[in-house]
Amino acid sequence: MKSNKQRRAEIKARRLERAAASAERLREKDVRLPRPDLAFALGHEPADRFVLEQYNNSYGMQPDFYVDRPFSCRDCGSEEVWTAKQQKWWHEVVHGHIDSRAVRCLACRRARREFLRNAVPGANLLREQTDRLRALGDAKPTTQAVAEVDAALQGKWWSLRVVAIQTMARWGGESNLAKLHELMAARPEGGRRYFAWERVAADAARSALMNRERWP
Ligand SMILES: [Zn+2]
Repeated sequence: MKSNKQRRAEIKARRLERAAASAERLREKDVRLPRPDLAFALGHEPADRFVLEQYNNSYGMQPDFYVDRPFSCRDCGSEEVWTAKQQKWWHEVVHGHIDSRAVRCLACRRARREFLRNAVPGANLLREQTDRLRALGDAKPTTQAVAEVDAALQGKWWSLRVVAIQTMARWGGESNLAKLHELMAARPEGGRRYFAWERVAADAARSALMNRERWP
């Protein structure tokens, strides 16, 4: 019986081989890539151009599909494959820029994240403030707590503003709920305004209110 570890190593080896071969073909310009409607072959994923055009503000061509890409980890040099599935997730779910690429293996990515978390005061600060705002929602609002949530709502970090909205929803009360409904009502329509804070705020308020209903 093969161990899971062996099996994973074999899958990785096959993936690397396949990705190298497909990179080779791309280099030779003999680009016999599958048609989008046929792009279900191993190592290929069809791209959703509608989603890409909404989120990836690029003047370049959007891909019809993703292909497994081989790369060497920037930190440890290990040979890796950025799979078509991972690319689809990166560009279409996380909305990573269409020209961004994987540069580190999973182990080095985790190590780096851990390092940054401990090394960069700003990253820590944002997390601490997020935790703090969330914790405020556990207790009844004091004057001090209300002032902090208000300040967060005016602050420059959208992620903190969203937590402030969630905290207001958890507190409830007439004026907080009225404020959330006001944010919801101010949701802008139309493509260009998609990135506006008002849209983010409206959606955050809506889901915070829905959570209130689900867990009274
Ligand atoms: Zn690495």
